[in-house]
Amino acid sequence: MGKVFCKICGMSINEKNFEINNNALPEGNSEEHYEYCPFCGAHKRYFCESSEKIYTTDTEKLTIKELEIFDHATKLEIFNGDFYMEASRRAIKDENKLMFRELANIEYIHAKVHMKLGGIDKKPELRKIDYGRLKNDEEFIKEANNRERHAVSFYDKGIANSEDKTVKEVLKAFMEIEKDHIIMTE
Ligand SMILES: [Zn+2]
Repeated sequence: MGKVFCKICGMSINEKNFEINNNALPEGNSEEHYEYCPFCGAHKRYFCESSEKIYTTDTEKLTIKELEIFDHATKLEIFNGDFYMEASRRAIKDENKLMFRELANIEYIHAKVHMKLGGIDKKPELRKIDYGRLKNDEEFIKEANNRERHAVSFYDKGIANSEDKTVKEVLKAFMEIEKDHIIMTE
């Protein structure tokens, strides 16, 4: 399919990387069709031909609310990325291990995007969570589903509470991606 850029995460998508997180996309990308960004999971309508169209913000012009949204979103995505890493370590079935590992990759990329757009320089340190209460693959999947539902409602509110057009568009893209994750963890 040649080379395109993802407007959301800014990565260049090409024949070498289109399938790296195929286990964490609703349908895997194929050589002929890239349906999703393999790095952040954005839908293909967020692809562009030129790197100049990658979304950026002028952090000086963002509202307090928008800066707060990026701060919370960064923490939420790292929190979920850490959760998926743990889920991947403890899952029994190989297919779940793989899906969780790749979902972690995607959530960590989301955190990076929020840091860039919100002008956050330092990766937040989160408290370590004990997931001992989760006993098997099914329980991790159920927990994942709850988290994805929470993420969708967070982004939904974020869209309503932001004014900047780019911010709204980016949050919308993330809301769609997390909706895909709900379906994948059902
Ligand atoms: Zn992307």
